[in-house]
Amino acid sequence: MCGVLGIYGNEGVFAEILSGLNTIQHRGQDSAGIVTLKGIFHIKKGLGLVNEVFRDGSVLPGKCGIGHVRYATQGSTGLENAQPFTVNYPFGLAMAHNGNVTNFEALRHSLSQDHHRLLETTSDIELIAYQMVLALEKRDLHKLSPTDIFEAIQEVQKTVEGAYAVVAVIAGFGLLGFTGPHGIRPLLLGRKGQNYAITSETTTLDYLGYELVHEFEGNESVFIDKNRELYLSKGQASKPAFCVFESIYFAREDSRFKNRLVAAQREALGRLLAKHFTREGLKPDIIIDVPSSSYFCAQGIAEELGIPLRRGLVKNNYIGRSFIAHGQKQREKLVKQKHNAISEIIKDKRIAVVDDSIVRGTTAKHIVGLLKQRGAKEVYFVSASPQLKHPCVYGIDVSEKEMILSERTVEDVRKLIGAEALIYPTLEDLYEVFPKNKHCAACFSGEYPTRLSSEVFSLAEREKINAGRLE
Ligand code: SF4
Repeated sequence: MCGVLGIYGNEGVFAEILSGLNTIQHRGQDSAGIVTLKGIFHIKKGLGLVNEVFRDGSVLPGKCGIGHVRYATQGSTGLENAQPFTVNYPFGLAMAHNGNVTNFEALRHSLSQDHHRLLETTSDIELIAYQMVLALEKRDLHKLSPTDIFEAIQEVQKTVEGAYAVVAVIAGFGLLGFTGPHGIRPLLLGRKGQNYAITSETTTLDYLGYELVHEFEGNESVFIDKNRELYLSKGQASKPAFCVFESIYFAREDSRFKNRLVAAQREALGRLLAKHFTREGLKPDIIIDVPSSSYFCAQGIAEELGIPLRRGLVKNNYIGRSFIAHGQKQREKLVKQKHNAISEIIKDKRIAVVDDSIVRGTTAKHIVGLLKQRGAKEVYFVSASPQLKHPCVYGIDVSEKEMILSERTVEDVRKLIGAEALIYPTLEDLYEVFPKNKHCAACFSGEYPTRLSSEVFSLAEREKINAGRLE
């Protein structure tokens, strides 16, 4: 999972991209980078948070540029894989993406063996960028039209499999954005006067004062030329499969996907979860959330059951998201530093505590222990997402062997985390909020929306081990 932002704006666009990247910092904390265009590409990338990378006060000139925040799911977390990625042939091309390419092995092989490219990184963006280069090379380089650009993108979309949302600048021509088949990863287009922004979440458009004008479906592309003319290509139709985890966990609650507020989707899931309490005869005294992505789900449960919603857990906002930390030891350390429980609120009470998901069980176990230590009488742990059982090959860094449910039953997990009850929504609950025919829910259902070779799972696992992300 990463965040992307491209803007065709006014001179000084760098400042706008910088503040926009801060609004999608939650999507990736490994590295950040910005490329602007003025005569040449001006590039600054580094490891860490946006404010750390740009702490030195660098300013990049130009009115068009792209930025990226990275959470590594493919390739190592090193600086060589920080984005945007640039090449200088047949045009200056700067590119950044969110997602995962699933036929990376075949693409790498073909680029190095058939096209004699020396790949410099282990990141998917280099593969996408070179596919674009190969497609552009076939065109008349002196009169590259929007149609040529869209045809080149369509070649990329046919060749590159998996989930990707891309922003790019072609020097001398303009800004573009495109999605892979099925539109698994989000991409949105906003407009402010003559200026355009392409990004991962509507919250960025809100902050920067852009009006949402288009949300990309699968295989779509947008091109804004140097005169700020906007061109849109629908591409080849593909079955929509937007990632449900975007709405449950990744995105900010004030973002909108498919014209629906993320907060409202989370609340709707909570209302459906309430019936599980009734069915199991559970009567909590209060509902609390594990801050902050499960707040609206907890609110839905509380309102439906008529039980008070309280802030029993407090989060240290200066600790990063534990799910996207690398390595189990690092995650455990972060989880311990991240939350405290208020004993005056929870003491002697039956607590229903709601988290967005249970992946490895690290947070759940710690939270249940913490609540009991502070005097909770009983703890009912609620996951806002169904049982996570299958690996994601589209940009979420959890392998099957890390999943707590991979070799355990729900009852085993309940005992392991020390809760009196453990509640998950069913797949039917999930599909009621996120219609099955429009969403990917493969990590819960095992039904993957794209073609996948049998080796992709073992190759992805090997990639994670090589990159040091699995212990
Ligand atoms: S497998 Fe899960 S996390 Fe991955 S894209 Fe599909 S729904 Fe999202």
